[in-house]
Amino acid sequence: MSKSLQAIRGMNDILPEQTPLWRYFEGTVARLLDNYGYKQIRMPIVEFTELFKRSIGEVTDIVEKEMYTFEDRNGDSLTLRPEGTAACVRAVLEHGITGGGQVQKLWYIGPMFRHERPQKGRYRQFHQIGLEVFNLDGPDIDAELIIMTWRLWGELGIRDAVKLELNSLGTSESRGRYREALVEYLSAHHDKLDEDSQRRLKTNPLRVLDTKNADTQAVLVDAPKMADYLDDESRAHFEGLKARLDAVGIPYVLNPKLVRGLDYYSKTVFEWVTDKLGAQGTVCAGGRYDGLVEQMGGKPTTGVGFAMGIERLVLMLETLEQIPAEISRQVDVYLCAFGEEAELAGLTLAERVRDQLPNLRLQVNAGAGSFKSQFKKADKSGALYALILGDDEMAQQVVGFKPLRGQGEQQSIAWDALAAHLATCVVQG
Ligand code: ATP
Ligand code: MG
Repeated sequence: MSKSLQAIRGMNDILPEQTPLWRYFEGTVARLLDNYGYKQIRMPIVEFTELFKRSIGEVTDIVEKEMYTFEDRNGDSLTLRPEGTAACVRAVLEHGITGGGQVQKLWYIGPMFRHERPQKGRYRQFHQIGLEVFNLDGPDIDAELIIMTWRLWGELGIRDAVKLELNSLGTSESRGRYREALVEYLSAHHDKLDEDSQRRLKTNPLRVLDTKNADTQAVLVDAPKMADYLDDESRAHFEGLKARLDAVGIPYVLNPKLVRGLDYYSKTVFEWVTDKLGAQGTVCAGGRYDGLVEQMGGKPTTGVGFAMGIERLVLMLETLEQIPAEISRQVDVYLCAFGEEAELAGLTLAERVRDQLPNLRLQVNAGAGSFKSQFKKADKSGALYALILGDDEMAQQVVGFKPLRGQGEQQSIAWDALAAHLATCVVQG
Protein backbone atom coordinates (compact mmCIF):
# COMPACT_ATOMS: atom_id res chain seq x y z
CA MET A 1 0.00 0.00 0.00
CA SER A 2 1.27 3.48 -0.72
CA LYS A 3 2.61 5.30 2.29
CA SER A 4 -0.08 7.96 2.40
CA LEU A 5 -2.73 5.30 2.90
CA GLN A 6 -1.25 3.90 6.08
CA ALA A 7 -2.11 4.86 9.62
CA ILE A 8 0.35 7.16 11.35
CA ARG A 9 3.11 5.31 13.16
CA GLY A 10 2.13 4.68 16.78
CA MET A 11 -1.56 5.22 16.07
CA ASN A 12 -3.52 2.00 16.01
CA ASP A 13 -6.75 0.71 14.61
CA ILE A 14 -8.66 -1.31 17.13
CA LEU A 15 -10.05 -4.08 14.99
CA PRO A 16 -13.43 -5.78 15.35
CA GLU A 17 -11.84 -8.85 16.92
CA GLN A 18 -10.31 -6.62 19.61
CA THR A 19 -13.26 -4.37 20.42
CA PRO A 20 -15.16 -6.89 22.58
CA LEU A 21 -12.29 -6.90 25.06
CA TRP A 22 -12.04 -3.09 25.00
CA ARG A 23 -15.75 -2.76 25.58
CA TYR A 24 -15.66 -5.28 28.40
CA PHE A 25 -12.84 -3.35 30.05
CA GLU A 26 -14.42 0.06 29.52
CA GLY A 27 -17.83 -1.21 30.63
CA THR A 28 -16.39 -2.72 33.80
CA VAL A 29 -14.65 0.55 34.71
CA ALA A 30 -17.70 2.68 33.87
CA ARG A 31 -19.98 0.54 36.05
CA LEU A 32 -17.54 0.69 38.92
CA LEU A 33 -17.22 4.48 38.69
CA ASP A 34 -21.00 4.84 38.54
CA ASN A 35 -21.31 2.72 41.66
CA TYR A 36 -18.85 4.88 43.56
CA GLY A 37 -20.72 8.03 42.58
CA TYR A 38 -18.42 9.52 39.93
CA LYS A 39 -19.84 11.42 36.97
CA GLN A 40 -18.51 11.43 33.44
CA ILE A 41 -17.25 14.60 31.77
CA ARG A 42 -16.29 14.89 28.09
CA MET A 43 -13.77 17.47 26.94
CA PRO A 44 -12.55 18.35 23.43
CA ILE A 45 -9.52 16.51 22.10
CA VAL A 46 -7.86 19.78 21.03
CA GLU A 47 -7.04 22.73 23.30
CA PHE A 48 -4.96 25.88 23.14
CA THR A 49 -1.28 24.94 23.46
CA GLU A 50 -0.93 27.45 26.27
CA LEU A 51 -3.19 25.34 28.50
CA PHE A 52 -0.77 22.43 28.53
CA LYS A 53 2.31 24.63 28.87
CA ARG A 54 0.84 26.33 31.92
CA SER A 55 -0.51 23.26 33.65
CA ILE A 56 1.89 20.45 32.83
CA GLY A 57 5.01 22.61 33.09
CA GLU A 58 7.43 23.89 30.46
CA VAL A 59 10.28 21.61 31.45
CA THR A 60 8.52 18.26 31.37
CA ASP A 61 9.06 15.59 28.72
CA ILE A 62 5.53 16.08 27.49
CA VAL A 63 5.77 19.81 26.83
CA GLU A 64 9.41 19.77 25.75
CA LYS A 65 9.20 17.05 23.14
CA GLU A 66 6.00 15.04 23.02
CA MET A 67 3.16 17.36 22.05
CA TYR A 68 1.33 17.37 18.72
CA THR A 69 1.14 21.10 18.23
CA PHE A 70 -0.03 22.91 15.12
CA GLU A 71 -1.38 26.19 13.94
CA ASP A 72 -5.01 26.26 12.84
CA ARG A 73 -6.42 28.45 10.08
CA ASN A 74 -6.81 31.37 12.47
CA GLY A 75 -3.15 31.21 13.39
CA ASP A 76 -3.92 29.91 16.90
CA SER A 77 -1.51 27.39 18.35
CA LEU A 78 -3.47 24.26 19.20
CA THR A 79 -2.38 20.93 20.67
CA LEU A 80 -3.87 17.45 20.63
CA ARG A 81 -4.32 16.71 24.31
CA PRO A 82 -1.44 14.69 25.77
CA GLU A 83 -3.37 14.03 29.00
CA GLY A 84 -6.75 14.81 30.53
CA THR A 85 -6.18 16.71 33.77
CA ALA A 86 -5.39 20.07 32.18
CA ALA A 87 -8.52 20.06 30.03
CA CYS A 88 -10.65 18.86 32.92
CA VAL A 89 -9.43 21.69 35.14
CA ARG A 90 -10.01 24.16 32.32
CA ALA A 91 -13.56 22.85 31.89
CA VAL A 92 -14.55 23.00 35.57
CA LEU A 93 -13.14 26.53 35.84
CA GLU A 94 -14.80 27.72 32.66
CA HIS A 95 -18.18 26.43 33.83
CA GLY A 96 -17.73 27.42 37.45
CA ILE A 97 -18.69 23.99 38.75
CA THR A 98 -16.04 23.86 41.46
CA GLY A 99 -16.79 27.36 42.73
CA GLY A 100 -17.71 27.92 46.36
CA GLY A 101 -16.04 24.70 47.38
CA GLN A 102 -18.40 22.48 45.35
CA VAL A 103 -17.19 18.92 45.32
CA GLN A 104 -16.84 17.33 41.90
CA LYS A 105 -16.01 13.66 41.37
CA LEU A 106 -15.42 13.33 37.63
CA TRP A 107 -14.11 10.82 35.13
CA TYR A 108 -13.36 10.81 31.45
CA ILE A 109 -12.28 8.41 28.75
CA GLY A 110 -10.66 8.98 25.41
CA PRO A 111 -7.59 9.21 23.23
CA MET A 112 -4.43 11.10 24.23
CA PHE A 113 -1.55 12.03 21.94
CA ARG A 114 2.18 12.05 22.64
CA HIS A 115 5.01 11.94 20.15
CA GLU A 116 6.99 9.17 21.84
CA ARG A 117 8.96 6.25 20.43
CA PRO A 118 6.31 3.64 19.66
CA GLN A 119 6.86 0.20 21.20
CA LYS A 120 4.83 -2.42 23.03
CA GLY A 121 2.59 -0.57 25.52
CA ARG A 122 3.71 2.85 24.28
CA TYR A 123 1.93 4.54 21.41
CA ARG A 124 1.45 8.00 19.93
CA GLN A 125 -2.29 7.81 20.17
CA PHE A 126 -3.29 5.90 23.27
CA HIS A 127 -6.36 5.82 25.46
CA GLN A 128 -6.87 6.68 29.08
CA ILE A 129 -9.61 6.50 31.61
CA GLY A 130 -8.95 9.33 34.02
CA LEU A 131 -10.58 10.59 37.14
CA GLU A 132 -10.37 13.90 39.00
CA VAL A 133 -11.84 14.94 42.35
CA PHE A 134 -12.06 18.60 43.32
CA ASN A 135 -12.52 20.25 46.72
CA LEU A 136 -11.87 17.24 48.90
CA ASP A 137 -8.52 17.62 50.61
CA GLY A 138 -8.34 14.73 53.07
CA PRO A 139 -6.53 11.42 52.74
CA ASP A 140 -9.91 9.65 52.75
CA ILE A 141 -10.50 10.54 49.12
CA ASP A 142 -6.95 9.63 48.09
CA ALA A 143 -7.66 6.28 49.72
CA GLU A 144 -10.98 5.92 47.89
CA LEU A 145 -9.29 6.35 44.51
CA ILE A 146 -6.83 3.62 45.33
CA ILE A 147 -9.47 1.33 46.86
CA MET A 148 -11.55 1.70 43.73
CA THR A 149 -8.67 0.69 41.46
CA TRP A 150 -7.92 -2.23 43.79
CA ARG A 151 -11.50 -3.42 43.35
CA LEU A 152 -11.15 -3.00 39.59
CA TRP A 153 -8.03 -5.20 39.48
CA GLY A 154 -9.99 -7.77 41.48
CA GLU A 155 -12.94 -7.74 39.11
CA LEU A 156 -10.63 -8.02 36.11
CA GLY A 157 -8.68 -10.90 37.66
CA ILE A 158 -5.30 -9.14 37.56
CA ARG A 159 -4.90 -8.16 41.21
CA ASP A 160 -2.01 -10.55 41.82
CA ALA A 161 -0.06 -9.08 38.93
CA VAL A 162 -0.02 -5.43 40.02
CA LYS A 163 1.78 -3.66 42.83
CA LEU A 164 1.01 -0.30 44.39
CA GLU A 165 3.87 2.15 44.81
CA LEU A 166 3.31 5.13 47.02
CA ASN A 167 5.12 8.34 47.90
CA SER A 168 4.40 11.79 49.22
CA LEU A 169 5.89 14.89 47.61
CA GLY A 170 4.72 17.15 50.41
CA THR A 171 3.29 20.61 50.01
CA SER A 172 4.97 22.90 47.53
CA GLU A 173 6.86 24.55 50.43
CA SER A 174 8.35 21.30 51.69
CA ARG A 175 9.01 20.22 48.13
CA GLY A 176 10.87 23.48 47.59
CA ARG A 177 13.07 22.90 50.61
CA TYR A 178 13.74 19.34 49.52
CA ARG A 179 14.55 20.48 45.98
CA GLU A 180 17.19 22.85 47.34
CA ALA A 181 18.82 20.12 49.41
CA LEU A 182 18.75 17.71 46.47
CA VAL A 183 20.26 20.25 44.09
CA GLU A 184 23.03 21.02 46.57
CA TYR A 185 23.85 17.32 46.96
CA LEU A 186 23.67 16.49 43.25
CA SER A 187 25.70 19.56 42.28
CA ALA A 188 28.48 18.27 44.48
CA HIS A 189 28.42 15.04 42.41
CA HIS A 190 27.80 16.73 39.08
CA ASP A 191 30.50 14.86 37.17
CA LYS A 192 29.12 11.44 38.08
CA LEU A 193 25.66 12.20 36.71
CA ASP A 194 24.55 11.14 33.24
CA GLU A 195 23.98 13.87 30.69
CA ASP A 196 20.21 13.81 30.96
CA SER A 197 20.37 14.14 34.73
CA GLN A 198 22.83 17.02 34.49
CA ARG A 199 20.31 18.82 32.33
CA ARG A 200 17.42 17.96 34.63
CA LEU A 201 19.39 19.18 37.61
CA LYS A 202 18.98 22.65 36.17
CA THR A 203 15.41 22.35 34.88
CA ASN A 204 13.47 19.81 36.95
CA PRO A 205 15.81 18.31 39.57
CA LEU A 206 13.27 15.98 41.18
CA ARG A 207 13.12 14.06 37.94
CA VAL A 208 16.74 13.01 38.41
CA LEU A 209 15.33 10.64 41.04
CA ASP A 210 13.66 8.42 38.47
CA THR A 211 16.71 8.08 36.23
CA LYS A 212 17.39 4.66 34.69
CA ASN A 213 21.16 5.33 34.58
CA ALA A 214 23.08 3.02 36.93
CA ASP A 215 25.87 5.51 37.76
CA THR A 216 23.39 8.22 38.63
CA GLN A 217 21.38 5.72 40.66
CA ALA A 218 24.54 4.96 42.65
CA VAL A 219 24.97 8.67 43.40
CA LEU A 220 21.36 8.81 44.56
CA VAL A 221 21.80 6.17 47.25
CA ASP A 222 23.12 8.76 49.71
CA ALA A 223 21.03 11.66 48.46
CA PRO A 224 18.69 13.51 50.86
CA LYS A 225 15.33 11.77 51.28
CA MET A 226 12.01 13.49 50.63
CA ALA A 227 10.51 11.83 53.71
CA ASP A 228 12.88 13.84 55.92
CA TYR A 229 11.61 17.09 54.47
CA LEU A 230 7.86 16.53 54.76
CA ASP A 231 6.05 19.17 56.79
CA ASP A 232 3.66 18.05 59.54
CA GLU A 233 0.56 18.51 57.42
CA SER A 234 1.87 16.35 54.55
CA ARG A 235 3.14 13.77 56.99
CA ALA A 236 -0.26 13.52 58.71
CA HIS A 237 -1.97 13.29 55.32
CA PHE A 238 0.32 10.49 54.22
CA GLU A 239 -0.14 8.59 57.50
CA GLY A 240 -3.90 8.98 57.11
CA LEU A 241 -3.76 7.47 53.65
CA LYS A 242 -1.59 4.55 54.72
CA ALA A 243 -3.85 3.83 57.72
CA ARG A 244 -6.85 3.56 55.40
CA LEU A 245 -5.07 1.27 52.95
CA ASP A 246 -3.98 -0.89 55.87
CA ALA A 247 -7.56 -1.01 57.19
CA VAL A 248 -8.89 -2.24 53.85
CA GLY A 249 -5.95 -4.60 53.42
CA ILE A 250 -4.35 -3.12 50.33
CA PRO A 251 -0.63 -3.85 50.18
CA TYR A 252 1.75 -1.13 49.00
CA VAL A 253 5.43 -0.37 48.82
CA LEU A 254 6.84 3.03 49.64
CA ASN A 255 8.96 4.31 46.78
CA PRO A 256 10.77 7.51 47.74
CA LYS A 257 11.95 7.89 44.14
CA LEU A 258 8.45 8.07 42.75
CA VAL A 259 8.11 11.68 41.56
CA ARG A 260 5.88 11.40 38.46
CA GLY A 261 6.61 13.17 35.23
CA LEU A 262 4.35 16.17 35.63
CA ASP A 263 5.13 19.32 37.55
CA TYR A 264 1.83 19.78 39.28
CA TYR A 265 1.75 17.01 41.88
CA SER A 266 1.86 17.56 45.64
CA LYS A 267 1.45 15.27 48.65
CA THR A 268 0.22 11.84 47.50
CA VAL A 269 1.62 10.26 44.35
CA PHE A 270 1.07 6.64 43.37
CA GLU A 271 1.54 4.17 40.57
CA TRP A 272 0.19 0.70 39.93
CA VAL A 273 2.97 -1.23 38.26
CA THR A 274 3.28 -4.70 36.78
CA ASP A 275 6.17 -6.86 35.65
CA LYS A 276 4.00 -8.61 33.03
CA LEU A 277 4.38 -6.03 30.26
CA GLY A 278 8.11 -5.58 29.96
CA ALA A 279 9.43 -2.04 30.12
CA GLN A 280 6.06 -0.25 30.00
CA GLY A 281 5.07 -1.39 33.46
CA THR A 282 2.90 1.43 34.81
CA VAL A 283 -0.79 0.76 34.20
CA CYS A 284 -2.30 3.48 36.37
CA ALA A 285 -0.77 6.57 37.90
CA GLY A 286 -1.91 9.62 39.76
CA GLY A 287 -1.74 11.85 42.75
CA ARG A 288 -2.78 15.03 44.42
CA TYR A 289 -2.41 18.44 42.80
CA ASP A 290 -3.65 20.96 45.34
CA GLY A 291 -1.96 23.95 43.67
CA LEU A 292 -2.89 23.35 40.05
CA VAL A 293 -6.28 25.05 39.86
CA GLU A 294 -4.91 28.24 41.38
CA GLN A 295 -1.89 28.07 39.10
CA MET A 296 -4.34 27.98 36.20
CA GLY A 297 -6.11 31.08 37.36
CA GLY A 298 -8.86 29.66 39.59
CA LYS A 299 -9.59 30.14 43.27
CA PRO A 300 -7.65 27.77 45.54
CA THR A 301 -9.22 24.35 44.89
CA THR A 302 -7.72 21.05 45.88
CA GLY A 303 -7.56 18.19 43.41
CA VAL A 304 -6.59 14.56 43.23
CA GLY A 305 -6.81 12.10 40.38
CA PHE A 306 -5.32 9.35 38.30
CA ALA A 307 -5.26 8.00 34.79
CA MET A 308 -4.97 4.45 33.56
CA GLY A 309 -3.69 3.35 30.19
CA ILE A 310 -6.30 1.24 28.42
CA GLU A 311 -3.88 -0.34 25.92
CA ARG A 312 -1.63 -1.57 28.71
CA LEU A 313 -4.52 -2.97 30.75
CA VAL A 314 -6.06 -4.69 27.73
CA LEU A 315 -2.62 -6.13 26.99
CA MET A 316 -2.49 -7.41 30.55
CA LEU A 317 -5.87 -9.12 30.26
CA GLU A 318 -4.59 -10.84 27.13
CA THR A 319 -1.21 -11.74 28.61
CA LEU A 320 -2.75 -13.16 31.78
CA GLU A 321 -5.57 -14.78 29.78
CA GLN A 322 -8.21 -13.05 31.85
CA ILE A 323 -10.69 -12.75 29.01
CA PRO A 324 -14.20 -13.83 30.00
CA ALA A 325 -15.43 -16.43 27.51
CA GLU A 326 -18.82 -14.81 27.00
CA ILE A 327 -17.49 -11.46 25.72
CA SER A 328 -16.49 -12.73 22.31
CA ARG A 329 -19.93 -14.18 21.59
CA GLN A 330 -21.96 -11.37 20.10
CA VAL A 331 -24.87 -13.31 18.67
CA ASP A 332 -27.44 -15.32 20.63
CA VAL A 333 -29.68 -16.47 17.82
CA TYR A 334 -29.21 -16.66 14.04
CA LEU A 335 -32.21 -16.80 11.76
CA CYS A 336 -31.95 -18.68 8.46
CA ALA A 337 -34.67 -18.33 5.87
CA PHE A 338 -34.95 -20.14 2.53
CA GLY A 339 -36.86 -18.56 -0.30
CA GLU A 340 -38.40 -15.15 -0.77
CA GLU A 341 -41.60 -15.85 1.14
CA ALA A 342 -39.68 -17.28 4.10
CA GLU A 343 -37.32 -14.29 4.09
CA LEU A 344 -40.25 -11.91 4.43
CA ALA A 345 -41.81 -13.98 7.18
CA GLY A 346 -38.43 -14.17 8.91
CA LEU A 347 -37.98 -10.43 8.77
CA THR A 348 -41.34 -9.67 10.39
CA LEU A 349 -40.93 -12.49 12.91
CA ALA A 350 -37.53 -11.12 13.89
CA GLU A 351 -38.94 -7.64 14.47
CA ARG A 352 -41.74 -9.06 16.63
CA VAL A 353 -39.24 -10.98 18.73
CA ARG A 354 -37.08 -7.85 19.07
CA ASP A 355 -40.12 -5.91 20.31
CA GLN A 356 -40.58 -8.44 23.07
CA LEU A 357 -36.93 -9.18 23.88
CA PRO A 358 -35.02 -5.93 23.35
CA ASN A 359 -31.81 -7.37 24.77
CA LEU A 360 -31.76 -10.46 22.59
CA ARG A 361 -28.91 -10.48 20.11
CA LEU A 362 -30.70 -11.76 17.07
CA GLN A 363 -29.00 -11.83 13.72
CA VAL A 364 -31.01 -12.37 10.55
CA ASN A 365 -29.17 -13.99 7.66
CA ALA A 366 -28.50 -11.56 4.87
CA GLY A 367 -27.53 -12.47 1.34
CA ALA A 368 -29.75 -15.58 1.06
CA GLY A 369 -27.76 -18.75 0.32
CA SER A 370 -28.21 -22.49 0.38
CA PHE A 371 -29.10 -24.51 3.44
CA LYS A 372 -25.45 -25.43 3.88
CA SER A 373 -24.06 -21.93 3.50
CA GLN A 374 -26.58 -20.34 5.87
CA PHE A 375 -25.86 -22.97 8.52
CA LYS A 376 -22.17 -22.37 8.14
CA LYS A 377 -22.72 -18.67 8.75
CA ALA A 378 -24.99 -19.39 11.72
CA ASP A 379 -22.31 -21.55 13.26
CA LYS A 380 -19.52 -19.06 12.56
CA SER A 381 -21.52 -16.25 14.13
CA GLY A 382 -21.11 -17.94 17.49
CA ALA A 383 -24.88 -18.09 18.01
CA LEU A 384 -26.26 -20.56 20.51
CA TYR A 385 -29.34 -21.36 18.41
CA ALA A 386 -30.40 -21.27 14.80
CA LEU A 387 -33.94 -20.47 13.76
CA ILE A 388 -35.01 -22.08 10.52
CA LEU A 389 -37.72 -21.04 8.11
CA GLY A 390 -38.06 -23.38 5.15
CA ASP A 391 -41.02 -24.58 3.09
CA ASP A 392 -42.25 -27.03 5.76
CA GLU A 393 -42.07 -24.44 8.52
CA MET A 394 -43.85 -21.88 6.38
CA ALA A 395 -46.68 -24.33 5.67
CA GLN A 396 -47.16 -25.03 9.36
CA GLN A 397 -46.53 -21.45 10.59
CA VAL A 398 -43.71 -22.66 12.84
CA VAL A 399 -40.01 -22.02 13.06
CA GLY A 400 -37.33 -24.66 13.45
CA PHE A 401 -35.35 -24.15 16.63
CA LYS A 402 -31.96 -25.83 16.54
CA PRO A 403 -29.33 -25.79 19.31
CA LEU A 404 -25.92 -25.13 17.73
CA ARG A 405 -23.73 -25.85 20.75
CA GLY A 406 -24.06 -29.22 22.41
CA GLN A 407 -27.11 -31.40 22.87
CA GLY A 408 -30.72 -31.00 21.97
CA GLU A 409 -32.84 -31.99 19.01
CA GLN A 410 -34.39 -29.55 16.61
CA GLN A 411 -37.89 -28.51 17.72
CA SER A 412 -40.76 -26.74 16.02
CA ILE A 413 -42.05 -23.63 17.74
CA ALA A 414 -45.21 -21.73 16.78
CA TRP A 415 -44.47 -18.18 15.64
CA ASP A 416 -46.55 -16.70 18.45
CA ALA A 417 -44.68 -18.72 21.06
CA LEU A 418 -41.17 -17.96 19.78
CA ALA A 419 -40.30 -14.96 21.98
CA ALA A 420 -41.48 -16.73 25.13
CA HIS A 421 -39.45 -19.79 24.20
CA LEU A 422 -36.30 -17.78 23.51
CA ALA A 423 -36.70 -15.96 26.83
CA THR A 424 -36.41 -19.28 28.65
CA CYS A 425 -33.28 -20.49 26.86
CA VAL A 426 -31.15 -17.41 26.26
CA VAL A 427 -29.76 -15.61 29.28
CA GLN A 428 -30.02 -11.98 28.40
CA GLY A 429 -27.40 -9.42 29.43
P1 ATP B 1 5.30 6.40 31.38
O1 ATP B 1 6.22 6.58 32.53
O2 ATP B 1 5.00 4.97 31.07
O3 ATP B 1 5.70 7.19 30.18
P2 ATP B 1 3.62 8.54 32.20
O4 ATP B 1 4.05 8.83 33.58
O5 ATP B 1 4.11 9.39 31.09
O6 ATP B 1 3.90 7.00 31.85
P3 ATP B 1 0.89 9.39 32.71
O7 ATP B 1 1.01 10.70 32.04
O8 ATP B 1 0.86 9.33 34.18
O9 ATP B 1 2.04 8.42 32.14
O10 ATP B 1 -0.36 8.60 32.12
C1 ATP B 1 -1.08 7.64 32.87
C2 ATP B 1 -1.04 6.29 32.22
O11 ATP B 1 -1.31 6.36 30.84
C3 ATP B 1 0.30 5.59 32.29
O12 ATP B 1 0.47 4.97 33.52
C4 ATP B 1 0.17 4.58 31.18
O13 ATP B 1 -0.58 3.46 31.60
C5 ATP B 1 -0.62 5.35 30.15
N1 ATP B 1 0.28 5.90 29.13
C6 ATP B 1 1.03 7.02 29.22
N2 ATP B 1 1.71 7.25 28.08
C7 ATP B 1 1.36 6.24 27.23
C8 ATP B 1 1.69 5.91 25.89
N3 ATP B 1 2.50 6.66 25.15
N4 ATP B 1 1.16 4.78 25.34
C9 ATP B 1 0.32 4.01 26.05
N5 ATP B 1 -0.05 4.27 27.32
C10 ATP B 1 0.45 5.37 27.91
MG1 MG C 1 5.60 9.19 29.68
